[in-house]
Amino acid sequence: MTPEEALDCFRKAADDLGFSALEVAPVEPLDKEAEFLHAWLQAGMHAGMDYMERHARLRADVRRLLPSARSVIVLTHPYLARSGQPEGCTYKVARYAQIKDYHKVLKKKLKRLVRTVQEVIGPFEYRLAVDSAPVMEKAWAVRAGIGWAGKNGNLLRPREGSFFFLSEIITNLELPGGTPMRDLCGTCRRCIEACPTDAIVADGVVDARKCIAYHTIERKDEFSEEDTPVWDDWIFGCDICQEVCPWNIKFARSSDEPRFQPVPAVRRFRDEDWESLTPEIFDEAFAGTPLKRAKYEGLMRNIRWVKKHRKKP
Ligand code: SF4
Ligand code: SF4
Repeated sequence: MTPEEALDCFRKAADDLGFSALEVAPVEPLDKEAEFLHAWLQAGMHAGMDYMERHARLRADVRRLLPSARSVIVLTHPYLARSGQPEGCTYKVARYAQIKDYHKVLKKKLKRLVRTVQEVIGPFEYRLAVDSAPVMEKAWAVRAGIGWAGKNGNLLRPREGSFFFLSEIITNLELPGGTPMRDLCGTCRRCIEACPTDAIVADGVVDARKCIAYHTIERKDEFSEEDTPVWDDWIFGCDICQEVCPWNIKFARSSDEPRFQPVPAVRRFRDEDWESLTPEIFDEAFAGTPLKRAKYEGLMRNIRWVKKHRKKP
């Protein structure tokens, strides 16, 4: 079997499993990208996410994860649901967090994909990554030509936008690499202008210390008056810089994956339900969703904060 035929086999299996695209990058050290990451870390823009610093060396070379690695297969899977939070609910939850945790769902799909391909082309070595292993996902995605790095820090794809998850299969197979895509942001600056906290400090550079997503998800401490109060209505994550992007407005596609539909509580909860949430209801309603990352106390802290600083009508 030729490398082209093997790649076709991967593409066919990925398509059958609901992935929207698959491209390949040949394994090389990510020197330039690692330098960029280093500068970002040095500037303290990772805020309290110390784990990013710990994994920095590993991230620069996937051969530390799989010594025989020759190719990084990058896949995208859409996650935009057909419905979302109900009319009248003003507390906002980022779309990726309204659904079941994607890590498990995508890991299972990747395992099935590998099994299917191995039945056809025979065994190969591999390592799977879904935002879990220290892999520079966006850098590999850009090198594979699956999309371009947008000014909002997200990966964008023509005719798809950015509401998708990235995942990777690192393998010892030598597969045909994709062609990097040109940057299609052009002169647009909508995401930069729309960010309520000015967290996009340069093209493609998000300072986590200013980003609502960091504060509402990663922070463990109480907020103080030194924190910027302008968080709109976001109680977990923030989608503003994606929502305003013309590529999403025009092309974002919804997912048919049943596990990527909002959990019932998200579809039902109105403001009073969020405000009166108890630890027991939280555990039951949001089991297996990314909201659990903030824990009950974190989510309630966010709700109190948004309520206190909410712009009056
Ligand atoms: S997620 Fe929200 S706060 Fe963070 S950069 Fe985007 S718009 Fe700004
Ligand atoms: S809003 Fe405009 S500048 Fe920002 S990522 Fe989208 S296309 Fe690029």
